[in-house]
Amino acid sequence: MFDDGHSGIRLAHSTGLRVAEHVGAAPPLKLLVLGALPFGQLDDERIQCVGNLLEPFDVAYVPGNVSGTAFAEFVRSTNNPAAPIISHGGALGSRADTVLEQTGPGDLAHACKLLAPLAERVRALPLIPRGAERPALLALALAVSRQKPIEASWQPGSRGVLGYELLSGVDEPRTLLEQLADIGLFKRRYHERLHACGHCGGCRVFAREVCSRCSSSDLAEHELLHHYTCGLQAPEPVFKRGEGYECPKCRKPFRHYGVDYDKPGQVISCSSCDATISEPDVFFVCADCGGETDSEQAQVVRFFHYQLTAQGVSAAEAGVLPMLGRAGDAHVGNSLQEFRVMVQNYVHIAERVERPLTLVRFDLQAGRGMPMERGLVQLFTLVQETARKGDAVAMADGCVLACLPETDVTQVQPLLDRVDRLVSAQLADGFTVHPQVVPRERVLNLLRALH
Ligand SMILES: [Zn+2]
Ligand SMILES: [Zn+2]
Ligand SMILES: [Zn+2]
Repeated sequence: MFDDGHSGIRLAHSTGLRVAEHVGAAPPLKLLVLGALPFGQLDDERIQCVGNLLEPFDVAYVPGNVSGTAFAEFVRSTNNPAAPIISHGGALGSRADTVLEQTGPGDLAHACKLLAPLAERVRALPLIPRGAERPALLALALAVSRQKPIEASWQPGSRGVLGYELLSGVDEPRTLLEQLADIGLFKRRYHERLHACGHCGGCRVFAREVCSRCSSSDLAEHELLHHYTCGLQAPEPVFKRGEGYECPKCRKPFRHYGVDYDKPGQVISCSSCDATISEPDVFFVCADCGGETDSEQAQVVRFFHYQLTAQGVSAAEAGVLPMLGRAGDAHVGNSLQEFRVMVQNYVHIAERVERPLTLVRFDLQAGRGMPMERGLVQLFTLVQETARKGDAVAMADGCVLACLPETDVTQVQPLLDRVDRLVSAQLADGFTVHPQVVPRERVLNLLRALH
């Protein structure tokens, strides 16, 4: 919980604060180099190269041949996953903010300069904590900082066939975006409808037409011929005799279209069993797992592009997903309301079965000029990190609340110590936190007083 990765967050953040304070004397831009630069060292005092994923940085250089797993690791563990990216080639698609054509130090320095305003926009957003909420918060941060929708595009190399380049390195981006659209943070715009394999769910499937009698795919399409004289209808090859036609039923030769015969349509004949069929059966064969799916039963997957809604922009700027609540807007009512209901239940159960329960209220004080909301979001994240399964954490006006079932007031100290360590390591300078321990019998009173 308390590792180098997390202490990196604070550094990144305080770097950001310093930049804001001293306009004009800008510190060098920190460039994270993933792998190695294709040329020697970068000799530019305005740019400082860092090589460790966990160090703070403003812009990242990602080599053109980066593997999917290496980039996923970058997304998962870096302290600035929404940072602008400079790359070569098209491996990252639109996730690369600048793609270098040439590979000289001058081009890289120039790209860094061009991306400085974007780096600033990203830095102005709240930190994106590592863990379960990172993918969602990252999607929001990327969409709001790049000021563009998250678009689906063809990715023949992937199982889904359609993917979301901006979310490179994120697992199951479509599922994530669907969830975020369901809670109103993104608006869908239709893009495509594909069939899916019934075995593995992938969309890399090929339609396979087979004989409805023997299931062979050795089919051929022929004109259907209709001999007027005797009424026989059969595929064209059956009538072929030298250059002309002869009817196999009445044995008469014929020549003139419209006089002797006509062609009422097409038929499909099977070369394996000689059956003549009007419609072949259609199956989808999966290129990934080899499974066959009946076209009638195949699932359909609809792909959309996703555009941030106003609510999505607020969530991105606050760095909090609405189900967690956010101070100062409409969501907090819901979230605090949910918290209240949940804690009331916890208290009632604890009283009935005579089990301990304690609530800790972490009051936050902001120094002059410090934005309260940002400190509150950070504190909320830190407290959440220390919470156990079953604990409930919520933000309220100027404080963060943690309800700890099965915990006596005398057992709270380790939690307070953990939060204290995280706060002093990671909370931005200028904020102070005062914890207050509330025993079970006073929890309901406190909840009533909250707004
Ligand atoms: Zn499959
Ligand atoms: Zn057949
Ligand atoms: Zn005939």
